[in-house]
Amino acid sequence: MSATETRAPLLPAYPRADVTFVRGEGAWLVDDQGRSYLDLLAGIAVVGLGHGHPAALAAARAQLEQLWHVSNLYWTTPMASLAEHLSARFGGAQAFFCNSGAEAVEAALKYARKATGKAGVVAIDGSFHGRTLGALSVTGQPAKRTAFEPLLAGVEFARLNDADSLAAAAGPETGCILVEPVQGEGGVHAASPEFVAAARELADEIGALLVFDEVQTGVGRTGTFFAWERLGTRPHAVTLAKGLANGLPIGCLLVADDAPRGFEPGDHASTFGGNPVSCSVAIAVCEAITDELLDGVRAKEAQVRETLTGARGLGLLLAVETQTPAADVVSACFERGVLIGTAGPDAIRLTPPLTISADELAQGLATLQEVL
Ligand code: PLP
Repeated sequence: MSATETRAPLLPAYPRADVTFVRGEGAWLVDDQGRSYLDLLAGIAVVGLGHGHPAALAAARAQLEQLWHVSNLYWTTPMASLAEHLSARFGGAQAFFCNSGAEAVEAALKYARKATGKAGVVAIDGSFHGRTLGALSVTGQPAKRTAFEPLLAGVEFARLNDADSLAAAAGPETGCILVEPVQGEGGVHAASPEFVAAARELADEIGALLVFDEVQTGVGRTGTFFAWERLGTRPHAVTLAKGLANGLPIGCLLVADDAPRGFEPGDHASTFGGNPVSCSVAIAVCEAITDELLDGVRAKEAQVRETLTGARGLGLLLAVETQTPAADVVSACFERGVLIGTAGPDAIRLTPPLTISADELAQGLATLQEVL
């Protein structure tokens, strides 16, 4: 699984594997040589319902026939319905739609500034919030930041699951406390219920917004629709993206009805935000995230934990430490037709479709065990 030099004139921003995928169905991908792969990565926690999910596909097809795009100067039914659906799931919230996780984080940072009048942000060491300059500024990974400094001023970092460190990093200028319920790109480390409860208390005390970046953890990934439901603390706002439209581009900032008001017309915008096709698919996704599906996610979490001792994370966002470099384990699994990811240099990450069958999961885990 060597990274190719180039197959096309693309800027070399990614270490791409030497494979071209042409088709997908459920938890399976097929490459241009006709070889099948069991996909335990799902586009890195994106294709939650699996490839080619019938309801998502039908929603996309129907909307494509009807309307692709109008400006956000007008209403569309899919955008309004999706906002209603997400608001109901959250327990009362307003949505801003955009196209990606980083864009949702940018919206959250601007919203918190506007709503609180304070520009300071406290984020967490090891976090990941995206690659745009604002999102990178609150990403607690020096290796990703250094080449692009100077970044936004006024950002402090606290240690995960250390409430004292959080309180020490916050101050009168803090308008936003930004936490991933489970750090995904940062190695699959879950925030503890006590830590997020303390973060909410601190945010309320100092007049800041507690924002959960649920770009990776949201939409059923951790066994509840929002990961905050499993951790027991409701934030002022969440960001969503990856799994929301099962692979079509979408991002969302969702602000609780009882949070301070921020945006007014003209404050923020995104040309493609709320795209009717993405929103139609997102509605189909939300409807598919039933209690039964979420029970299944937690059952499959238990299945992974029983098979791989020491698995960390929540739901179907899990990681396991490796004795050899994680990249070698990923390559060896790839050679055996199983796709997994890394969670840092010494851990592999599993983010399979939420709909993967227990048998398929067992098959993938058997390959992984053989490699480990
Ligand atoms: N926030 C979190 C928690 C993420 O995991 C990611 C991507 O991995 C992002 C933000 C950035 O999302 P995107 O790549 O869609 O910009």
